[in-house]
Amino acid sequence: MDRFADHRFSDARLALEAGLAVGDSFLPAHDLLLSPLFEHVSPPLLRWVADARGRIGAIERERGDFAPRLAADPAGLGWRHLLDRDDRRMLLRAMLGGKGGGPVVVRLRCADGQARWSQLRFARVGAPGAGERWYGTVEDIHDQRDREARLLAEALTESREHYRWSVDLSPQVPWTASPDGGIQEVGPRWFELTGMMPEQALGTGWVGALHPDDVERTISIWTAHLSSGAPVDIDYRIRLRDGGYRWMRARASARFGADGQVVRWYGTLEDVHAERLAQQALSESEERFRLAIQSARLGIWDFDCVTGVRTWSPEFRRMLGLSETQPATADLALGLVHSDDRDRLRAMLDAVAAGSLPQHFEATLRIHRADTGALRWIRSTGWTTRSDSGRPQRIIVTFLDVTEERDAAERVRWAATHDAMTRLPNRALWQASLEGLAGQAQAEGQGFGLMMLDIDDLKRINDSLGHDAGDALLCGFAERLAAVAPPDAVLGRLGGDEFGLVAPSIGHAAALQSLADRIMASARTPLAHQGRQLDCGVSIGGAIFGDHADRADDLLKAADLALYASKRDGRGRLTMFHSSLRAEAQQRDSMIRMARHVVADRLVTPYYQPRVDMRSGAVLGYEALLRWRHPRLGIQSPGSIAAAFDHAEIAVALTGLMLDAVLTDMRGWLEAALAPGRIAINAAAADFAQGDFADRVLSGLARFGIPGDCFEVEVTESVFLDRGADQVARTLRHFVDAGVRVALDDFGTGFASLTHLKRYPVDVLKIDRSFVQDIDRDSANAAIVDAIVKLGGSFGMEVVAEGVETAVQAQILLELGCVVGQGFHLGRPQPASAFRPRPA
Ligand code: C2E
Ligand code: CA
Ligand code: CA
Repeated sequence: MDRFADHRFSDARLALEAGLAVGDSFLPAHDLLLSPLFEHVSPPLLRWVADARGRIGAIERERGDFAPRLAADPAGLGWRHLLDRDDRRMLLRAMLGGKGGGPVVVRLRCADGQARWSQLRFARVGAPGAGERWYGTVEDIHDQRDREARLLAEALTESREHYRWSVDLSPQVPWTASPDGGIQEVGPRWFELTGMMPEQALGTGWVGALHPDDVERTISIWTAHLSSGAPVDIDYRIRLRDGGYRWMRARASARFGADGQVVRWYGTLEDVHAERLAQQALSESEERFRLAIQSARLGIWDFDCVTGVRTWSPEFRRMLGLSETQPATADLALGLVHSDDRDRLRAMLDAVAAGSLPQHFEATLRIHRADTGALRWIRSTGWTTRSDSGRPQRIIVTFLDVTEERDAAERVRWAATHDAMTRLPNRALWQASLEGLAGQAQAEGQGFGLMMLDIDDLKRINDSLGHDAGDALLCGFAERLAAVAPPDAVLGRLGGDEFGLVAPSIGHAAALQSLADRIMASARTPLAHQGRQLDCGVSIGGAIFGDHADRADDLLKAADLALYASKRDGRGRLTMFHSSLRAEAQQRDSMIRMARHVVADRLVTPYYQPRVDMRSGAVLGYEALLRWRHPRLGIQSPGSIAAAFDHAEIAVALTGLMLDAVLTDMRGWLEAALAPGRIAINAAAADFAQGDFADRVLSGLARFGIPGDCFEVEVTESVFLDRGADQVARTLRHFVDAGVRVALDDFGTGFASLTHLKRYPVDVLKIDRSFVQDIDRDSANAAIVDAIVKLGGSFGMEVVAEGVETAVQAQILLELGCVVGQGFHLGRPQPASAFRPRPA
């Protein structure tokens, strides 16, 4: 409150004394008031000078408004009336107590009856009795004192409020404890929280509010700190009024005395429950995240774009085969990545540096492990987080070694697109490659060659030598094919015995022909399997993209037709597609359509052609030949539906219809007591596919009461080629056992093999018409007929010459020892109605 340091007064006194010492003994009062010495005193409101007895001799009336307000004139001893008795006494005591002094605060009465607080300062100058004077000031401090008192009161209130807010309302509970740890005081919130009276908490009472699990730990920490005096910071749970528990944080510091001993502990208890739970949840979620990462075997690369810190997780290092100490850098990563993928990684690293990485990305790169060098597939998945302004803040990339999955997926994909045995692409993949090539060739205006290949003997080998041999044949052929094919050729196994070859660099039929020649030659070189030689003939159909078709599927059809023609024309050859094949195919289609009508409308009617003993002219029997009745055009020959005899279902249906009609006719003849001799019907290869052909025929015969030895079945050698040979042999034996004869039709054409005669029970050989036709002009044909006759004779078979059209032919045949003939010269096919069998 005293804004003027006391030493100024002593300084002033010294200065005044010094002034007097130089002979300035007493100056007129007004002159004195002008003395610059006043500058050493506080800025006065009122200055006065009094004599040794206290009578004011001079007073500064002119300045300020203080003096005029006073209740009396302070001059002389008038100032006494301005003070009450106590103040007067106090002032006198102060003045008499020493040479000078103050400040003395008194109340000066004013004219308005108010007493104003005033502060007096004074100094005595000169020796007592020898011109001794008082110099003094009066300062009106009423307003100031008032203000300060008010401020003080406010400060006090504020302090009280502050205390109330900080202690009563603060979530913290303040407490103090004695040096031995006994609680001495505890804030009121303790009760609010725990429902325990603060008095009960004193000493060690508070321990009763602790969670039982936290007691031991809390006490042991608290005790340890009591002896060390170090600050305490413990978390524990306290029981609330409602019986629940809440996490609190207790912190305390010791106040030490001058002797270094703890005087008292000051502490607070703070509710940290929410924080603690959040912390717990965070660390649990972190733990979960860590476990998830660990169990997913994910490696992590984390780049903080702001600080530039890059982190390689331990799992990521392990994945790359890096030690924990090896410094991880972009160059190291570039060194590990497969050279083919290096540019991609470099582009990604550049994007990271430029901050232009997309929000999310995925890439699978190959690396060579740093430790073993093993090639691994690593899939990376990255995320970039960006600030509001769009700048990348963090890039996190996870890595997963997907080598095994990739390998497995690759195996599955391979298996789905390849033939496991020959390891060639399967039809789907091969065809997809073909389509790709066709698209490319189309765009570039280029041609390319296509071959469809069919192994001729696979069925026979499967049947005769078993499937192992068949498999060996397939694999052997695939190998040879691959060895001979041009390097850019695309091979495929399209089905059982069917292969495909696309030759992108072959654009001409001649080149395709020469490739086919090489393929057939290499296929023909003997292939040994378990000591046996496997024959591998191959039929090929070829077509040129651009020349024969402009679309992949059309090209495939063209080559397919050419292959069909190769097989039909005697196998073991290449047929290049030509447009007539398409016409033939269309013709086949229309024949089959027609045959469907024939079957559906049961239009079949057999014609019978006699088989004659050419020596006597006796009819030995008849061959039933299919005819069908066209609704408008009348009787049609089987040639109009010939393709249907090669159709799996229609051929069987036609045989069935023929059988029914023939048996019906035979039954009629039998009932008419006619003896037409043996009746032969023609069987199709498809009839043998079911395995019940003999049963169907024999049960038919039984149903119509016709003996087996009146019946004959004609088969061509194609029957032996197409289906399970064992089944065919069984069926034929079945016939023979029932007395039904088996004739081998069209003998000498097609794929005649003498082993067929040995293997299958054949009773009759029918010499094909083509050998008989010009037997009178072609000595080679005569030689063949001669050979067949001798062959049949040595096997004990009947030999029948077909297509005997002239007497000369009949004569030559007889000379060659062929007795039985069939032909227009001997009798044309006739309907049953016109049929006049000779009476038996
Ligand atoms: P294929 O079994 O060789 O029948 C003999 C064919 O030669 C018959 O023709 C017959 O009319 C004809 N032919 C007989 N003598 C002479 C002759 O002196 N000169 C000439 N140029 N031809 C003669 P078709 O009836 O037109 O039958 C043709 C082929 O149709 C048959 O040849 C046979 O392979 C097949 N076929 C006929 N009927 C049936 C049938 O019911 N079932 C099956 N699967 N095929 C049948
Ligand atoms: Ca026949
Ligand atoms: Ca024939």
